[in-house]
Amino acid sequence: MRTKYLSIAVALGIFSSELNAQTVHNDYPIQPVPFTQVHFHDDFWAPKIEVNATVSIPYTLQKCRETGRIDNFLKAAGKMPVGKITEYPFDDTDLYKLIEGASYSLQTRPNPELEKTIDTLIQIIGDAQEPDGYLYTFRTMKPDTLHPWISTKRWEKDPDLSHELYNSGHLFEAAVAHYLATGKRNFLDIALKNADLLVRDFGPGKAAYFPGHQVVEMGLARLYRVTGKKEYLDLAKFFLDIRGNGDIKGAEYSQSHKMVTDQHEAVGHAVRAAYMYTGMADVAALTGNKEYISAINDIWKDVMEHKIYLTGGIGATGHGEAFGAAYQLPNMSAYAETCASIANVYWNSRMFLMNGDAQYIDVLERILYNGLLSGVSLSGDRFFYPNPLASMGQHQRSAWFGCACCISNMTRFMPSIPGYVYAKRENELYLNLYVASTSSIELPAGKLELEQITEYPWKGQVALQLNQAPANAFSLHLRIPGWAKQEAVPGSLYAFMDTQRKPIRLLLNGKALDYTMEKGYAVIKRTWKKGDRLQLELPLEIEKVIANQQVKDDQNRFALQRGPIVYCIEGVDNKDNAANNIVVDRSAAITAKYEPQLLNGVMVLTAKGSSTKRQVNSKTLLRSEQTVKAIPYYSWNNRGPGEMQVWIPYAESAALPMPAPTIASKSKVSSSQNNSRMLRGLNDQYEPSSSQDRNSIYLHWWPKENTTEWVQYNFDKEYSISSSSFYWFDDGPFGGCRIPQSYTLQYEKNGKYLPVEIEKMDPISKDGYNVIKFKPVKTTALRLEVKLPEKHSAGLHEWIVN
Ligand SMILES: [Zn+2]
Repeated sequence: MRTKYLSIAVALGIFSSELNAQTVHNDYPIQPVPFTQVHFHDDFWAPKIEVNATVSIPYTLQKCRETGRIDNFLKAAGKMPVGKITEYPFDDTDLYKLIEGASYSLQTRPNPELEKTIDTLIQIIGDAQEPDGYLYTFRTMKPDTLHPWISTKRWEKDPDLSHELYNSGHLFEAAVAHYLATGKRNFLDIALKNADLLVRDFGPGKAAYFPGHQVVEMGLARLYRVTGKKEYLDLAKFFLDIRGNGDIKGAEYSQSHKMVTDQHEAVGHAVRAAYMYTGMADVAALTGNKEYISAINDIWKDVMEHKIYLTGGIGATGHGEAFGAAYQLPNMSAYAETCASIANVYWNSRMFLMNGDAQYIDVLERILYNGLLSGVSLSGDRFFYPNPLASMGQHQRSAWFGCACCISNMTRFMPSIPGYVYAKRENELYLNLYVASTSSIELPAGKLELEQITEYPWKGQVALQLNQAPANAFSLHLRIPGWAKQEAVPGSLYAFMDTQRKPIRLLLNGKALDYTMEKGYAVIKRTWKKGDRLQLELPLEIEKVIANQQVKDDQNRFALQRGPIVYCIEGVDNKDNAANNIVVDRSAAITAKYEPQLLNGVMVLTAKGSSTKRQVNSKTLLRSEQTVKAIPYYSWNNRGPGEMQVWIPYAESAALPMPAPTIASKSKVSSSQNNSRMLRGLNDQYEPSSSQDRNSIYLHWWPKENTTEWVQYNFDKEYSISSSSFYWFDDGPFGGCRIPQSYTLQYEKNGKYLPVEIEKMDPISKDGYNVIKFKPVKTTALRLEVKLPEKHSAGLHEWIVN
């Protein structure tokens, strides 16, 4: 019925306004060259984009089907009994993002079958739309038994968690992508009908809720660009200006604690934040608003100086998926969500389009090659949500997540990468990313065909061949990456140890060439001729990077970077399958070698280093020499979970020695918490710095409360035991774990567990070991029973047995 209404509406001319993009006068002064005009044939990105098209997109579609995400729409349309539905009200967006990615993919890889599938999905989505344009399956499916995040009144809980406007935002983004890709209006019309509802419902004197999870601002800006309908732009601005400015109480978590123009620091949920900054840039570009620009300039500097990982990841803490304080950049517990990396690329690309400064592309390139690309496995069907910079083996890519945002975001982002290579302003052509490719570009001066010949990112030579040149002059802006000028990042958060600049060579048709430097670009203005060949030689060397001393987690360590690629050491490539016990001297010579068979072909780095091991009954560490091998960070965890670290200790104090062969470390661990990765934490001899130290593995029973749980050591043989020490995990006041109410220790005798006879027992406390001494027992196993606190859970860092 609803579809019929829609098509009648179209026939009646309710949506008759012709799309009128040319009415959009103001926009970014620089415009990207569309990805459809840039064809990659390199060995780095082209195969990854191919894997996205042939594996990730069909895989994600299949998962959306299996998990009921498509059924949600059928149920909302009344075409299926409702029954059990999926988990989150934002699950609709996975389908939208998938369609967006598939639409992009179709433009460069025609696939009639996929196109047909998408049309069917669009039909299903349209059927779920309510007659007035409202599209949100979680309400339409079950209007009488709403998810706890949804209130009976539309939009009312959006500032909190309903995600109604978040769903609309992704709908708009996807519908515009699909329209531009296929020229078909079927999806766009659904989006416009929804956008028109927002225009009717929101605004001064109408509903005044700020979007709880930003993205609708960017989506509305995109809709405005294709339709020229100013109400969409006005609404995007309204959604920004109502933040921190209305009657609804805001919070840092959703960047609604202050008016957006009064915000000067990056706070709260990182994906929301970066989508908002992107939306602010879009609206500023389209309206000329200077206050937004001033705010996001300040926030950008805050992120660059204090809050970005070397991998380009943002959002350091899992608590609230949020930015941490300045310099709070823990490695093992780094959140650095894949979606936040994608959002950070969007934001930095907008900053470039506004300012024409290469520093934004330096950041974008860092994100792209490292903390974003790590989000998907080489196989294309395993994914990271957080992207940590160190691991003791507790991290592993997943086949799916209940909250699948990162997966569907990856499918839509990958095919769009060629769109970040070139940009233009009048007769200025910007070359931002170096990728072997051919491109066809229109400038006012005329058309040019450009070929990039390069083995970037492994090699620093780039040849540019003009296969067709316009009759008139144009200027070429070649980005000279920050790393080629010995600058790690804009700002003082990271620096290369070697500050000596190396020459950058630029030749035209074999001869040295005069150029000027402007905002990080080598600028060459001339009348080009067909056959002109420009050769750029970037000094691509291995760099040791050090972090600002205020980043506590990176002290006494350096990282390796070569060109745009950040490296890590992974256990599987190193002695004893270990990485965290390795030490490499600051002055160590590092060599690079391309290994075509490893991880689909990577440049590996090797150095002489050493490693340490603990011993039983001695504080002295055992040292041994070894060759240390590093691989590109993005490629880690493609050979199973294991130890990894980006920041390599150069001082022994920063390394984690291999555990000594103690009774505990040789034990088999089991627990009522059946997670083998957590269990490894108890006997790893890691010394926690406090009970809330999250920089290592620990066992916890969260979210269980007030139950009795157990954990057990089965020894390799019988021992005489007379004491145990426990270091409890407690992440109060914000986390869910506290020290337990009580515990008992039992030993195994003839297949039964008997309590030990206590001689002395420390009170239960945090931030140190609690020791229990008992009458010696001969046994093969100890079992610890823990009574969890009444209103919290509990956890255990270490359990020592003597
Ligand atoms: Zn995500």
